[in-house]
Amino acid sequence: MKYISTRGQSPAASFEEVVLTGLAPDGGLYVPQQLPVVSLQQLADWQKLSYSELAFEVIRLFVDGAIPDAALKTMINDSYASFTDPDVAPLLHLHDNQWVMELYCGPTLAFKDFALQLLGRLLDYFLEKRQQHVAILGATSGDTGSAALEGCKHCRFVDMFILHPHNRVSEVQRRQMTTVTGSNINNIAVEGNFDDCQEIVKKAFADQSFLPQGYQLVAVNSINFARIMAQIVYYFHAGLKFLGKAPAVSFSVPTGNFGDIYAGYLAKQMGLPIRQLIIATNKNDILHRFISSNRYHKTSLEPTLSPSMDIMVSSNFERFLFDMFQHDAKRVTQFVTGLNQEVQQVSEAQWARARAHFASYSVDDAATCATIRDTHQRTGYLADPHTATGIKAAQMCDTDSSIPMITLATAHPAKFAAAIEQAGFAVPALPPHMADLFSREERCSVLPNSLDAVKQFMLQHLASK
Ligand SMILES: *Cc1c(COP(=O)(O)O)cnc(C)c1O
Repeated sequence: MKYISTRGQSPAASFEEVVLTGLAPDGGLYVPQQLPVVSLQQLADWQKLSYSELAFEVIRLFVDGAIPDAALKTMINDSYASFTDPDVAPLLHLHDNQWVMELYCGPTLAFKDFALQLLGRLLDYFLEKRQQHVAILGATSGDTGSAALEGCKHCRFVDMFILHPHNRVSEVQRRQMTTVTGSNINNIAVEGNFDDCQEIVKKAFADQSFLPQGYQLVAVNSINFARIMAQIVYYFHAGLKFLGKAPAVSFSVPTGNFGDIYAGYLAKQMGLPIRQLIIATNKNDILHRFISSNRYHKTSLEPTLSPSMDIMVSSNFERFLFDMFQHDAKRVTQFVTGLNQEVQQVSEAQWARARAHFASYSVDDAATCATIRDTHQRTGYLADPHTATGIKAAQMCDTDSSIPMITLATAHPAKFAAAIEQAGFAVPALPPHMADLFSREERCSVLPNSLDAVKQFMLQHLASK
């Protein structure tokens, strides 16, 4: 299978190239040239599979021979072996047609483990074959950093440099990063905010000439298609549990960058019977504004109780735009690059296409807290603040009570103490594998808010290898 860029100016790429680069050279995002389609018979056959077996069946459609089946199977089994629930992504019934799928049984307690556990292994496989070393450089406001570090700490061909804003991530989030040990792991606290960190990363990617000979940078944020691919699996996992029992299922997805919900959209396009896909946003609601009013534009960033969805622009939305514009890459480029100057709008027909696939709702902090309380009172389930936006959006947008509505529970509530306390609850204990988090030794370098300082630091560490 070949992958093409949403901007239309890069040659088609192989799965291996897509994994190793992330962004296409023309600045676009890679999407499969042709999406694999799964028949109803195949779906029925998949119903008896374990999570890892199902993941193998779905993922091999995208890998398409780039990795021998046996090696791929091992990578996938290893990726999900450390998840604490035997079902990997367990479904929990809330009430009536409302369900949650718990996606926080991985090592860092957020859904990002599903993709990053696998991505680390994919990178190592291809890099060993090529005998090539890469440096992962990423900026994180919290969950991505720890999931990437946990996913790649065993990679022999990868050095990691993860930037976070000094004193501006939660203590659990910081400790989840700074206590990961390994000679290839470097945590950098930048004396600035998240945007400063991202700016440094962007500039380093744009000019990589500072790296030692033979090195290249790899992106591990959700622009890397391998991350989306791994996330498609749990939509099938949930949908298959209702196959034959309900005509379809619906999903409510807490999203900022449109990564997680785009994976659901692909599952639907591949043939999984999905009725509704609901975009749940917090006050940073560029996606909701587009779906509800056909206006896509940047506003200022608002810090919220669900910080992993605090974004101004949803980078993965470009992948859906490519479909909405019926693969007109010029129109995609115009839309995305025009965003810095003015509000973007699309034709009635195009907007209708978007609304045919997605409903949306924006949830503020007060409603997030109220939903955490209501849900707990009604069902005993303690939702993290991101999950709570999903549960609220599901209540507001659900159009058919005979269809199971599954909210993706994207993080464990212990990760977001501030919101849980604000909702009036004691913060739950961390799971056993993290119980000693607060007594583990931390390793982190504080650097000034400067591209040169980060480059110098990276060079020193790479040269000494
Ligand atoms: C990253 C994250 C999200 C948002 O994911 P998208 O890729 O923007 O869809 C939601 N909840 C949690 C807990 C996260 O870590």
